Amino acid sequence: MGKEKVVLKFLEKKYGKDIKISKKQNQKIYELLIETILSQRNRDESTEKVAKKLFSNARTPKQIMKLSRERLQTLIRTSGPYKQKAKKIRRTTRAIIEKYNGKVPSIREELMSLYGVGPKTADIVLMYGFNIPSIAVDTHCNRVPKRIGLVDRKANVEEVKHRLEEIFPKNKWYLINLGFVTFGKNICKPTSPVCKKDKKSCPFSDFCRAFKQKDFKV
Ligand code: SF4
Repeated sequence: MGKEKVVLKFLEKKYGKDIKISKKQNQKIYELLIETILSQRNRDESTEKVAKKLFSNARTPKQIMKLSRERLQTLIRTSGPYKQKAKKIRRTTRAIIEKYNGKVPSIREELMSLYGVGPKTADIVLMYGFNIPSIAVDTHCNRVPKRIGLVDRKANVEEVKHRLEEIFPKNKWYLINLGFVTFGKNICKPTSPVCKKDKKSCPFSDFCRAFKQKDFKV
């Protein structure tokens, strides 16, 4: 069995049952977009709290635009580079109102034309908002397949995405995203992948490029 199949089989068995995705309503897609912007360079737990605080004050695109810049900055102050994020939220929301009639666009290029929306944010919104299969490459989804040797370690984020989308069947793209993220957080961790202590604790160590070469840099 090729390494892709071993990886897919493992991810399916381990994380497949956690996947429940369906198309969200417009308002929920907008909230997902804003929450994803808030999550950039921020921890998950902190993002959740900040998003909750923001949405309890303003939830719809119009309500967000009614907030003054200073008020918006205050509401999201604990989300990392909050001034930059406030700017992204305001500019993106304005474009959604003016260009897209208040609805988040569902085409990747249109999403990426919004200020502050890069490939990862666009793919997350497509996948978890619109239920359109798309592999979002975050830090884990970039590191793990490179270490395993599924993807060239020098590939950029777009190349990683396209390579993964070539290797794995479309109906498994949700699993690939969620699986690599969870695997990367718990097993193939950035500085301390579990195989460094015990080869047997990772199911991919027999064929993993990084493990064989003892070179975990990505
Ligand atoms: S063997 Fe090590 S480096 Fe390779 S996937 Fe497993 S934990 Fe990551």
